[in-house]
Amino acid sequence: MQPSMRIFVLLLFLSHHATHTCSLFAYIGSLLCKGHILQGLERLEFRGYDAAGFACLDAESNCITTVKTTGKVAELKKLALSLPWDGFVGIGHTRWATHGQPTTLNAHPHTSNDHSFVMVHNGVVENFHALKQELITQGYIFVSETDSEVIAHLFVRAYKNSNNLKTAALATIQQLQGACTFIGLHKDHPDELIVVRQRAPLCIGIAPDGMSIASDFLAFADATDTVYFIPDRTIALVRRNEITAFDYAGNPLAINTQKVPLHQSAYAKLDHEHFMLKEIYEQKAAIQATVAYCKELGDNIWHTLGLTTDDIQTLNAIKLFGCGASWHSGFIGQLFFEHIANIPASAHVASELRLIKLFPSLNTLYMAISQSGETTDVVELLRSCNQHDLHTVALTNVQTSSLMQEAHGGIATQAGPEMAVVATKTFTSQVALLYWLAHRIALQRGCIYAAQMAAAELNLLYAADVLERMIEEHKPAIIALAQQLAHARNVIFLGRHITYPLALEAALKLKETSYICAEGYPAGELRHGNIVLIDEQTPTILFSHQDPVVYQKLVGNAQEVKTRKGQLTVFAFAGQDELITLADTVFIIPPVAPLLEPIAMAGLMQFFAYHVGIALGRDVDRPRNLAKTMPKLAS
Ligand code: GLU
Repeated sequence: MQPSMRIFVLLLFLSHHATHTCSLFAYIGSLLCKGHILQGLERLEFRGYDAAGFACLDAESNCITTVKTTGKVAELKKLALSLPWDGFVGIGHTRWATHGQPTTLNAHPHTSNDHSFVMVHNGVVENFHALKQELITQGYIFVSETDSEVIAHLFVRAYKNSNNLKTAALATIQQLQGACTFIGLHKDHPDELIVVRQRAPLCIGIAPDGMSIASDFLAFADATDTVYFIPDRTIALVRRNEITAFDYAGNPLAINTQKVPLHQSAYAKLDHEHFMLKEIYEQKAAIQATVAYCKELGDNIWHTLGLTTDDIQTLNAIKLFGCGASWHSGFIGQLFFEHIANIPASAHVASELRLIKLFPSLNTLYMAISQSGETTDVVELLRSCNQHDLHTVALTNVQTSSLMQEAHGGIATQAGPEMAVVATKTFTSQVALLYWLAHRIALQRGCIYAAQMAAAELNLLYAADVLERMIEEHKPAIIALAQQLAHARNVIFLGRHITYPLALEAALKLKETSYICAEGYPAGELRHGNIVLIDEQTPTILFSHQDPVVYQKLVGNAQEVKTRKGQLTVFAFAGQDELITLADTVFIIPPVAPLLEPIAMAGLMQFFAYHVGIALGRDVDRPRNLAKTMPKLAS
């Protein structure tokens, strides 16, 4: 393909797939649905949303009744439970506004003008403007500013022509561009729900009493472990005890269900005040489980990764890509592959790599990293790599995710569901997995001996232990620092080499939990401009490194900060006395194996960010404006 063509194709991808993060939940069965649907929405609510709504076919009056509100699901619950109606089929939604303000009128469900049809939508109808104009000229009245409302009117228009749900659904989806996953309910068909998955994920839980349909199975995981993950571009008609599914040509599809194990403890904060705190403390176990899982794979590892041992021998580059914390772990992974396996590697922000020239290369491994496996930029980039027939590998925390399904191979971190929006245990599990993989590839290529592989596994477990011990050991001091720094307007994090991506991750964590403006820099960049930010009011937090050369350079940077009267906090390794003496506040970490500095220091860093958020009264589990694609259980 000509370069200009390729850019065009990439741009097309971009325009078609926006991020989608709201939640859908629907039920059809022998039980009244209101309580069940509201509970399902509550389970998904930590993803972030600004309005919520519910509709059902009232069993008494046989009319579609709708209630919606801005704000929390708790508000919706209060309203809905105060109303007398309920039914055996219903739909619910939490909205993350893309088109139109977060108002009650714009909240879903949206109803057709004749009140025969009601629907909830997840995604963005990219051609809604043209469709809306057309519908208005035909007399349809729009009550909301959303893109989603066109779906309600289009469906009813198509239904009037066919009197058939499947035909109407097909006609509707064929006109829609973008992420258009929706669930609809027609009052003349009380026994079925109309379900369309286009882009945004959706799955159906099959239980003896009926079917629950949700953006993620965590929402109904206490009711059933039998799940049908609806493939992309599918239309389904869901009855109480039957699912029929079709592709967009109207051909029937087989319904392949999966058994998904339920980890009840993932839903509960147990004795922790927040999920984030619980998940910070789960990191040691998550790393242990990830290492155990990798070891168990044995020689199956190559098959799991979709590679042959020949592919490993001829590998001459690794490109890692992700977003947010997954980009940071990819950055750390880059250094693992280079130092341990001697393979040139590079880490990329997925949303940027999608825009620049890819230079497809056959002996390169394209490693897609995403905790949920649903991050749009990562999935789309993977798809373009697949189009070039490149070696793609997914690294996610969710075995059933789109990324896992679409990559040529994939391996899952074993962190269990991460309920807080802010990534903690998925980040360190990714780092652990990358460290292990770098050693495994090095072993296969003859760069290290089996004994070094075994030592690497032990080193990883030891670093995970240090991660947890450091939180306990420094607890009062790190909480005191968090309370002190909560008043700062800006915070600067510095690191070098493998602690530079840790500084980036620390800045991201602090921003997410506290809304304080934080920056992560490579410490060597300080004197090239950023040093102007250093003064008595701006705290600097520096992550040391064990390598003597890197360490000496960091001592120099610490001196630069002190000379400008900066308040300096240092995460140093035992014995690094020069650095320790320079710091105003210091946290001393015992030595770990080289390159495992980020794991050893991550827990303390996250605990600090958590406590700054708490000191400021922030909602640390659900920071404002942020949403995350729902984590699913790793299996
Ligand atoms: N685009 C739709 C809206 O703004 C749906 C957004 C969502 O997925 O929550 O209402």
